[in-house]
Amino acid sequence: MSPLPPKPSRRALLGAGAAAAAGLALAPGVRLIELAQARVAGEPATGQVRWGLLIDADRCASGCTACVDACSQENGLDSAVALRQRPQWIRKVELKELRTGREVSLPMMCQHCADPPCVDVCPTGASFKRADGIVLVDRHSCIGCRYCMMACPYKARSFVHASLTGQKPDVPRGKGCVEGCTLCVHRIDREQNPACVQACADAEHGAMLFGDLNDPHSAIARRMREVETHAVRADLALDPGVRYQGI
Ligand code: SF4
Ligand code: SF4
Repeated sequence: MSPLPPKPSRRALLGAGAAAAAGLALAPGVRLIELAQARVAGEPATGQVRWGLLIDADRCASGCTACVDACSQENGLDSAVALRQRPQWIRKVELKELRTGREVSLPMMCQHCADPPCVDVCPTGASFKRADGIVLVDRHSCIGCRYCMMACPYKARSFVHASLTGQKPDVPRGKGCVEGCTLCVHRIDREQNPACVQACADAEHGAMLFGDLNDPHSAIARRMREVETHAVRADLALDPGVRYQGI
């Protein structure tokens, strides 16, 4: 499904002023909009690829936070900030099935929806979907209205309240902006696994599989043909790029 059409006059009106206003709060680093046109292995990001994650709840260990810790480290999410103000791009969720008593633990992050409501409601076009399915926020045009936070059914986005320290050059962030999991787009564009996936593998859990959902020969596509997988809140028909097995 293609991105929703841009909002007309309001977006145009807000865009320039918002970029100027947001620019004041931004730390040095690459503009996120550049990542929207990034080249993977020398080629532009295209709709031929759709990046996705498959998470196996049967392999995800209760109490393990390797993915959460790796995400914070990779993206420079500030652990010095008070917990209630700290942006969280990925969180562990513990679930218990009432009927059977079965408990599962799983990571939850932006689901990189094919039809993302966060993009639909954004008045400036700051919230956007890249051609390869990665949903991002351009900090330069985000005005911090938080419409996208209200629209996201997965509570996947955070507002940056506090001043930022320890920012990473590859991961532009801004006080007063909204942010969320980028699927580690800067790593993907270098042909590396997202940090959480790598950390989960390093911890020998192997609960997270990353790859191209459109490539029938990819490990993720093959696994999805072999096992039963689920979208969280499939009833919303947002076609998330993050899928789960064992739930
Ligand atoms: Fe947008 Fe939320 Fe879907 Fe991510 S999970 S694409 S923030 S609606
Ligand atoms: Fe964080 Fe990257 Fe994993 Fe997204 S893919 S949750 S940004 S580590």
